[in-house]
Amino acid sequence: MEKKKKLSLPMQILIALVAGIVVGLVCYFANWGDFTANYLKPFGDIFVNLLKFIVVPVVLFSMIDGILSMDDMKKVGSVGIKTVLYFLITTAIACVIGLVLANIFNAAGLFPVLDTSDASYEASAFGGFMSTLVSIFPSNMWQAFSTANMLQVIVIALFFGGAILAAGKKAQLCRDIVSSFYSVIERLMMFVISLAPIGVFTYMSWVVATQGAQILGSLALVLLCAYIGYILHAVLVYSFSAKAFGKLSPIKFFKLASPAMIFAFTSTSSAATLPVSKECADEMGADKDIASFVLPLGSTINMDGTAIYQCVATVFLATCAGMTLTVPQMIMVIVTATLASIGTAGVSGAGMIMLAMVLEAINIPVAYIGLIVAVDRLFDMGRTCLNVTGDIACSVCVTHWEAKKKAKTAKK
Ligand code: ASP
Repeated sequence: MEKKKKLSLPMQILIALVAGIVVGLVCYFANWGDFTANYLKPFGDIFVNLLKFIVVPVVLFSMIDGILSMDDMKKVGSVGIKTVLYFLITTAIACVIGLVLANIFNAAGLFPVLDTSDASYEASAFGGFMSTLVSIFPSNMWQAFSTANMLQVIVIALFFGGAILAAGKKAQLCRDIVSSFYSVIERLMMFVISLAPIGVFTYMSWVVATQGAQILGSLALVLLCAYIGYILHAVLVYSFSAKAFGKLSPIKFFKLASPAMIFAFTSTSSAATLPVSKECADEMGADKDIASFVLPLGSTINMDGTAIYQCVATVFLATCAGMTLTVPQMIMVIVTATLASIGTAGVSGAGMIMLAMVLEAINIPVAYIGLIVAVDRLFDMGRTCLNVTGDIACSVCVTHWEAKKKAKTAKK
């Protein structure tokens, strides 16, 4: 008898997405939003919990393993600089795209002017740049792990990776432990990822069933503006760089990145999507060691979708406040949105919390965030999708640049 061919995971995820939309629409029109929230979403939550539970060990061991495989702190430095430059440049471009689009929408009178009198939002206090810098360095390793403070986990990984390399032969046991742990975590990751279709289906049906009405509400055009920005950035910046540097056609790039994109879209967490992004980068031929380094870092500091959202939201909220942004204020928005997106954690809703920093910089009342809080998940789905696509594109480009550098040195 002919053996039945198993559907590939990307295909399963795509089917889950479509089924989730269909079930969500049925539940929306039948008024069964509560059913999706009470009985479907919890399964998505279980899946996201599982991903969150492996994300600290994945980041920690994947980064240390990546550093050890590069076997040379110079190479780690070279990969690190290229990665951070790619992140910074693309984020600045994202801010410009967000601002230009928002201003076009605004000038065309497409943004609604909402009543701000009832708007309320409690922003968390920012300690300023220096205290943020200090907080990146952990004073207690276990606390960093238990609170999933990813920037601190990355610093710990960099220090341990560097120290194991510096200790040379004496650290052989540590190397073996890292590589053995990492193999176990990879297996665990593969198992959790195989459950992705369940997460995608349950989350998607819940979002469509419960937030469908808001899409049709007054913020539809603001959402549209952000989504045009996300799409433009993905097409212009990522597919261009993947083609120019990674020799991947845009179609191939997006096709191979689609499992991570769909998963990010539904889970709204770059950190939780990390295991899926790794699979996609692998499929694209990104160097394993480089991807092990770039992707965890990217899921923590590279947030182009978040930057676009923050720029669009700032222009929109300024309009509601009756303000027109001047050029110096826009430059301020670019700088603060770039920093705010770097400081945004790769978890659901974090970009909206950091939006407060951008608003404060140009004196828009933070309480106005209350005007968009209800639809944040809809903004978040697109921005997270873009965030992880950027991480994958970066790992492809850095792989190419490093290979080129290696070829050049070999020629000499
Ligand atoms: N949810 C986004 C992410 O994980 C962060 C954000 O809220 O902008 O990438």
